[in-house]
Parts: sequence; structure tokens; C-alpha cells
Amino acid sequence: MCDTIYNYYMIKNTYVDPNATIETHWRSIILLGKNTASYKFSLAKTLLKFPRQQSLLRIDELALPFALNICEHLKLSNKQHTGSTNSFLEQCRKFNLNEISKEDLREASIKSGFTYVLDAFHNVTGGEAPKFFDDNRKNDNGIILTDNFYNLLETEQKNNFKHEVEARWRLWETAITLKINPRLLDLHLDSNGEEIFVMNENNRRVSVTSSKHAIAGYQRGKCFYCYGPINIDRENDEVCHVDHFFPFMLKQFDFNNVDLIWNLVLACSDCNNGESGKFAFLPDKKYLNELYKRNNYFIESNLPIRESIMKHTGSTYSERKSFIENFDRNALSIQPHRWKPMMLRGEPI
Ligand SMILES: [Zn+2]
Repeated sequence: MCDTIYNYYMIKNTYVDPNATIETHWRSIILLGKNTASYKFSLAKTLLKFPRQQSLLRIDELALPFALNICEHLKLSNKQHTGSTNSFLEQCRKFNLNEISKEDLREASIKSGFTYVLDAFHNVTGGEAPKFFDDNRKNDNGIILTDNFYNLLETEQKNNFKHEVEARWRLWETAITLKINPRLLDLHLDSNGEEIFVMNENNRRVSVTSSKHAIAGYQRGKCFYCYGPINIDRENDEVCHVDHFFPFMLKQFDFNNVDLIWNLVLACSDCNNGESGKFAFLPDKKYLNELYKRNNYFIESNLPIRESIMKHTGSTYSERKSFIENFDRNALSIQPHRWKPMMLRGEPI
């Protein structure tokens, strides 16, 4: 059963699968696996923003934007590394306190910001993803963007990636910064499911990120129901909707678990509340298995979504499968109507 799940999402030993898309490879780097520092997120963000006229990016060009991203995030979460001390991060903190100049920061970044991240960037669970850049520090003191990277920027998902990196970064840094046992850390959602927040050690609400930005990559940027592409950019008129897989109205019947991230999916507006939309119906039974798979994919992302999904739906594959099936059975006693989209607009997630 586990193999099926892994193959489905192509996350384990399937980076060589010729059918895996370039978006899937990129997301396996950004969204999955354990992180010990935020450098991978910062490098990804820097690359996505960098002017694209040239394929050679020298370290002295990358150094400042790379460091400034980390400085910005240090203001949000003062921990960007799971170890105790780190000289580069100390320089970033000093910059935030105006104790060193931008030029000093750039020098510090050139000296020690890239020590591990260029080598480790493409490492994924069980191997290495196709290269989005080649390390050419020996010859040109820089990296060379590959066709994979340029192809990534040509996909219909291109506007989603920057939000996905940012959301994953926020979730990770929030989890490692809070003085709460990760197993006890819980993700909460605001009343319409749009924003993720956590309660800190003083029981105060800390806003983390948009739930759309956090979820989209785990659905491969597709509507959960019709598989058409979705957009998570707030500026876009076609921005997708957050949908409660088991309808929110169940909450009034004491289904208290219904407004948590395990039950949130993203859907296009047609599927969510269009003319023949889902509204408060239960999804067609085939989607139960897809929710189960999506939640297992979430678990591969580690801190902190993993802990939240396991806490609420079970710590093993079989527990999680039973949980969804039981939930569906109970929900059916309240809502007897099921729904599926009129037509499918893409390949399954
Ligand atoms: Zn749809």
C-alpha cells in the first residue's frame, strides 16, 4: 500500500520517473523532507525572482538578495536553523539591528551563506532531483541555470511557486521557533479557512500563512475535483477557493474536526460554488481515497503539517484510511447527497 501512495505522488525513488513533471520535481525539493536551515527556501525564492536574461548567476550577485530574504524572515521568526549557533545568521541579525552595512552582509553571504545549500539543494528523499542549476563555482564562481529551470518558468503553475516557497518557509520556521513540542503544535484556521495560525506558548494567536499557498503544491496546483489548473495569486481574478471536503455545515452537528487542515482542499470556483458546484454536498466516494492520498503527501512535508494531520486523523496509514471512511459514513447520516463535477478538466492529481 505504501508503494502505491509513494508512486502516486512520485516522492520516493521516483525522481527518475520519465513521467514526473518538472513541477513535481521542483515541489519535491521545496515542499518535502526535513530541513535543518532555511537556506534552500531563500535560494529558491532568489532564483524565482532573479532577472532571467543570463543563465550564469555569480555568487556575488546572488549573495545580497539571498541574505536579505533570510534577514526578512529572521524578523518573523528568530530561528532559521535547527542548530544552536551559526555565524552567517548572526551577521544577518546584526544587519537587522543596523550593526553592519549592506556591503558587510553581502560579504558575509559570499563567505558563508552558500557553504551547503548549493550542494544540498537538489537532495530529496532517497536521492537527487533533476538539476535546476549546475554548480560552476570552480570556473565562474557561480551557478548556471539549466533548461529545467527555464521550463519550470514556462509552466502554467509559474505564478504559484513563489507563494508555495513562502508558505512552506513560514510553516517550517514557525514550528522550529515556537517553544512547543512539535507533536503538540496544532494548526488552526480562521473562520473561512483562508489563513493558518498557531497558538504560541503564551496562548496568543500567531498568523502563519495563507492556507491556499500552503496547500496548492500538495495538489500539484490542480482543482481537487475536476483537476483543472488553479491559481493561488490573490491578485488574479481566477483565484481558487478553499473548500471543506466534508462540508462545514457538519460542524453544527458536532463534527468538530471539520475545520482543520486535513479536511481543506482547493477547488476552482466552478466546482466550489458554480452553477453545478459542490456547496454543502458530500464529494463522490472516489474522492475519499484522493483525500487520504493528499493527506499522506502532506505528511511527507514534515513539520508542522505532518504533526497536525497525524494528530487529528491517525498516525498510521490504516488509521487514517479508517478515519476518513468512518467520517464519511457518519456524515452521510446528515447529508445524503453526493456531488461530482460535470466534467474533468485535467489528469488526476
Ligand atoms: Zn474544479
